[in-house]
Amino acid sequence: MRPRVLVVGSINMDLIVRCSELPRRGETVRGEEFRTAAGGKGANQAVACARLGAATTMVGRVGEDEFGRSLRDDLAAERINVESVRGDREAATGVALILVEHDGSNRIVVIGGANARMGAEEAERARALLAVCNVVLMQLETPLPVVREVALAARERGVLSVLDAGAATPAAAEMGLPGLVDVLSPNEPETEALTGIAVRNLETAREAAQALREMGAHEVILKLGRDGAWWSGPEGEAHFPAFPVDPVDTTAAGDAFTGCLAVGLAEGQGLREAIVRSNAAGALACLTLGAQPSMPTAEQLEAFLRERG
Ligand code: ADP
Repeated sequence: MRPRVLVVGSINMDLIVRCSELPRRGETVRGEEFRTAAGGKGANQAVACARLGAATTMVGRVGEDEFGRSLRDDLAAERINVESVRGDREAATGVALILVEHDGSNRIVVIGGANARMGAEEAERARALLAVCNVVLMQLETPLPVVREVALAARERGVLSVLDAGAATPAAAEMGLPGLVDVLSPNEPETEALTGIAVRNLETAREAAQALREMGAHEVILKLGRDGAWWSGPEGEAHFPAFPVDPVDTTAAGDAFTGCLAVGLAEGQGLREAIVRSNAAGALACLTLGAQPSMPTAEQLEAFLRERG
């Protein structure tokens, strides 16, 4: 039986501007390049799940505009079920304006748009779709009450919930979200936003993961970039080293990781196996430029694991 994953999350158009210097207030500068790319943590992770072989359904909201139509078509082309991606006439599709400087550093302005208007309707749709899913995967780029509602509904139904803490703020912790999901997976800055503990090495990773467990999180899987992942759960704790690669662009490595984790758990893999595979998916995502283009397929993942395993 194919694993079935429900993704409730954000859908954005990334507007990427490359410029050698950033304008100061009131100033105009010439940029070098402009391009658009499909993004949003929810959409990126849905693409990861679909490419890794899961029957994937997405619940989200875009504007009834050119970006919204194009993003929905892109998701459908990945064979993601987009029947529950609603078009909103009153809000524009979410965008992320990404200014990239000559040294590769970036400044990002995210405008939630239609994503920020997700509410009871999406929670209701997700609740109905839980009946036909093994795992529900969420992030924190959508309004927190929706995440809360869906997590509670999943718990009620006995559907496994995975929360990628993408765009975490202390508000998510204050709302008690870590305690409402089965698997919580933040990266280093998100861990700090949730716990106040700066993750600098394995010792602080362990401490922060314990703090999240004390906040009620069941299984905690910290994403540690080139250091791989740290797991703390009721059955123990362990470090899972990364697969060494020469990164080209680490954008969305975390989305590949969490997408792979959700698919693995939906397939019935044990947590340890799923984490090893997710490290491989994250490493693979570092080898291609961009967010969605770098999400690996099941074939690429198996080949990489055979080679490196
Ligand atoms: P995010 O993309 O959310 O910031 P991370 O940077 O922690 O998350 O990356 C997610 C996962 O991708 C890591 O847990 C690891 O498995 C893999 N990864 C990221 N950077 C590297 C790297 N330089 N080398 C190998 N694997 C990496």
